[in-house]
Parts: sequence; structure tokens; C-alpha cells
Amino acid sequence: MGASLSELAKRLGANQLATGTAIAPRYRLDAFRAHRGSRLPEAGVAPAAVAWPRSTEDVVSIVRFAAGAGLAIVPWGGGTGLMGGARPSSDAIVLDMRRMRRVRSIDPAARTATVEAGMVLEALDRRLRKRRLILGHDPWSRPRATVGGAIGTNGIGYGGYLRGTMGDQVLGLEAVLADGTVVQTRPAARSTTGLDLKRLFIGTEGTFGVVTAATLRVFPVPEQEEIHGFSFRDFATGFGCLARIYDSGLAPSVMDFEETFPAPALPWWSEEGPPALYLRFAGSREIVAASWRLARRHLRSVAARPLPDREAREYWKTRHDIIYAHDEVSPGVTRADLFLKDVIFDYVHVALPRSRVLSYRRAALAVLRRHGVKPIGFGVWTQPELVSLEVVRPVGEDRTASRIAVAAAVDDVIHRVHALGGSMEYVHGVGAKLAHLMDEELGVGLATARKVKRALDPAGTLNPGKAGL
Ligand SMILES: Cc1cc2nc3c(=O)[nH]c(=O)nc-3n(C[C@H](O)[C@H](O)[C@H](O)COP(=O)(O)OP(=O)(O)OC[C@H]3O[C@@H](n4cnc5c(N)ncnc54)[C@H](O)[C@@H]3O)c2cc1C
Repeated sequence: MGASLSELAKRLGANQLATGTAIAPRYRLDAFRAHRGSRLPEAGVAPAAVAWPRSTEDVVSIVRFAAGAGLAIVPWGGGTGLMGGARPSSDAIVLDMRRMRRVRSIDPAARTATVEAGMVLEALDRRLRKRRLILGHDPWSRPRATVGGAIGTNGIGYGGYLRGTMGDQVLGLEAVLADGTVVQTRPAARSTTGLDLKRLFIGTEGTFGVVTAATLRVFPVPEQEEIHGFSFRDFATGFGCLARIYDSGLAPSVMDFEETFPAPALPWWSEEGPPALYLRFAGSREIVAASWRLARRHLRSVAARPLPDREAREYWKTRHDIIYAHDEVSPGVTRADLFLKDVIFDYVHVALPRSRVLSYRRAALAVLRRHGVKPIGFGVWTQPELVSLEVVRPVGEDRTASRIAVAAAVDDVIHRVHALGGSMEYVHGVGAKLAHLMDEELGVGLATARKVKRALDPAGTLNPGKAGL
């Protein structure tokens, strides 16, 4: 341990800082792992230190120390981010926020909760349910992801259309800037008082500040919730039906529509099947009944076929299971690493004008064919504009070549998205993985974003290199 890091360790107290061999291999990589398409190294490096702050004051001390010592700060929540936003460099202090997990207050009448950033989303949801409330943000990764990480990526979950992204649910927040200043924004439902400062920290992956706490809008447990599944004769028919469902003013609490393709290389069964939709409404009994009456009218008009209800119930019950594949089975190795060792498996989650989704589908599938990469799934989630594409390619003889081939295919798909007027990511952020495409995404806006970054963080202490900053 270097002299100055040991001073910091002393200042923080027992077991709040690790260096050298005391750093668990887990901190080398978040959930952006070796099985993804990328030109970046597949193995991460150990950071200079890992710190576990217990309070906002601890975060201030650590950030000031890092700025003085020329070290970077990489905020770390659950480490479930899929873009390498929490991937450290060897000169970084990883700031594991999970010991900052207190609920500061819950106000059931106001429908708000003020919590520290390291609180795991599922733990917060459980606390809220005791007061007949729920957390509005419900990503697949809810059992492991934290409030701060969800704000840092401005993620979206199952209820995203009804309740908005994580950022939409933040009424106010507290964040520590690179110089140690603690900013607190007023937790108001709406405000037109100039620059909305909290937005500096929402979806910016810890590059402008470390979020230490947030006041979130929370929601009553719905009186009624009902999910059903349907299949369609083809993608265009299902997509058109969905567009009409949204246009008629319905607000599904879940919408997941996907077609699948055969992919022999996969370690799980994937076959060509009719596109399937899971649709759920939640709210008062009257709203849910009326929503289903209207939705069924649209579904019948295109001869959508109901799936057995047990399939829809199973889909809903197991919606978070996939995140456990990202738990370690041995130091630094996750179940997903083992399961996916023979394939490069990647995904692209883009936002497009609704009118462009079908032409994007055609173009993206053609691009993949040209790159020798197989599609596994194509669909929309939460609303018709938010489009997912999953792809696979066997590792073959040369793993690096395969990773690069998939990365090239993904880049080409994203060029199409930009040409069609869309955004290259609607859910997982940019991190390290897509940083090289930020000039195409933002155009001259990237220079502006960099000026703001330099003004607030001239030494580049906070998560440098992420999100193109
Ligand atoms: C199987 C799987 C399914 C997923 N499903 C979804 C989904 O449905 N919806 C969704 O939105 N995402 C999903 N994700 C992605 C990921 O879970 C989310 O991005 C999540 O919000 C990250 O939270 P985290 O606490 O793990 O953050 P981390 O991965 O630790 O960090 C994510 C980013 O936020 C920054 N950060 C972390 N904490 C703070 C803080 N306190 N202040 C400032 N910056 C911070 C990090 O530096 C990093 O850049 C999924 C991931 C996996 C592996």
C-alpha cells in the first residue's frame, strides 16, 4: 500500500479501503464481459484501491484525496452495468457505494422515498412494500443493481412506459463533485427554475459527480395486475397492432414483443418461432378491465393467438432470474462467463422513430448476414420505439477475431440507426463499450459535453474515458 493510500485508509476507518492483493478480482470487470463483441481487452485490470464509503463525508474525503493524488474515481454500484461504465483502470479508486444503503425517509402520503445511492433496488422495493408502496423502476437486474447505478445509467425497467425511466422518477438528488462540493437539488415534482442540475448526474455514468442519495417518486401497490401472452403470424402484423394499442391511449405496465431465430451455436435452445408478446396492465380494477377490453379488440383484429396463461405467469415470475448468472462462481468468474465461453453474444438496444422500426429490422438483419453474425432475437420492449437486437457468433479458432467481427457488425448496425435518426442506446448507457461512437451520436454536441466536463472536473478525476468524456 502506498503511503498516501494508507493515510486515506486510516482516515476512513477499519475495513473501508483495500489495495494490492486484498482487492477481489470481481472489481476488474462489471457485467461487460469477455463474451461481448468489442475491440477492448477482454480481461480487466485491478484498480489501485477499492473504497467502501459509509457516508457522504467519506465520499468527499475519497474524491478529494483522489484528485490530489492524481487518481481516478470509478463509482461502483452492483457492478451489473453492461457497458463497462464501472470498469476501472489501474490508477483508479473504485468507490463501492453499497455500504451507503440507508433509507433516509419514506413519506407514504407524498409518495416519495429518500435513500442512499448504494441501496440495492430490490431491498428498497421490499422496504416500500411494507408501506403498501412499490419502486417504479423494475429492471431485470433489480436484485443486484443499486439506486446510484440505475441513476448513473438512467436505466429503464418493466414498468418503463407507465412510470418512466429511473431518471424520470428522481425528484431530487445529492451528489459529490470532483472538487468535493456536495450538491443537493430540491426534490420537487416539477420546476422551471433554469438548468435542471440533477440531470447532470442522470445517465452520465458518474462522469460529473458521485450520486450519494436521491429522493424518488414511489407508487402505490396496484390494486389489480394482469398479464397475458399472444403470438402473431409475423413481426410486422404484431408491431402494427402494438402501435394501435399505444395510439388508443393504453399504457401497458409491461410490453415485451420479440421474434426469435434459429441459432445452432448457442448453448441454449433457440428456434424460429412466431413473434410473441407479453402484455400487462396494472392499476385499479376498472382501469385494468377496460384496458384489456380495448387491447383485446386490437389483438383480435389481427388474429393474435393467446398463449397459455401459465406461460405468461412464468415469464413474469422469472423475470429477474437472469441476473443471478452474473454472480461469481469462483473469484472473478461468473456463471455467465462459463455458460457463454464458446460464443460471442451481444445486443444492441436502440431508440428509433416508430416509422423506421421495420426498415431498421430489414437493414440490421442484412448487415448481420454480411458480417457472418447470426441474429437470435429482434423485438421491442416497453414501447414501440425501443428496439432490441440480440446476436451471436461462435468463438471458433480465434476468440479475439470473433469479438472484433461482432463489434464491427454492431458498429455497422449503429451506423444504420444514426442514419435513420435514432439513438444508439436507450437503456444501458455508453460506458467504455460504445465510447468510440459518441462523436457520431452527439455530433458537435460532444465537444460541448466535454467543455462542461472540463469546467466541473478539470483534472478528469471522475470516471475518465466513460461515455466519451
Ligand atoms: C442480466 C442483466 C439484465 C439487465 N437488465 C436491465 C434492465 O432491464 N434495465 C436496465 O436499465 N438495465 C439493465 N441491466 C444493466 C444494469 O443492471 C443497469 O445499468 C443498472 O442500473 C446498473 O446498476 P449497478 O448498481 O449495478 O451499477 P454499476 O454497474 O455498478 O454502474 C453503472 C454505471 O453507473 C455508475 N455509477 C454507479 N453508482 C453510481 C453513483 N452512486 N453515482 C454516480 N455514478 C454511479 C458507474 O460508474 C457506471 O458507470 C441489466 C444487466 C444485466 C447483467
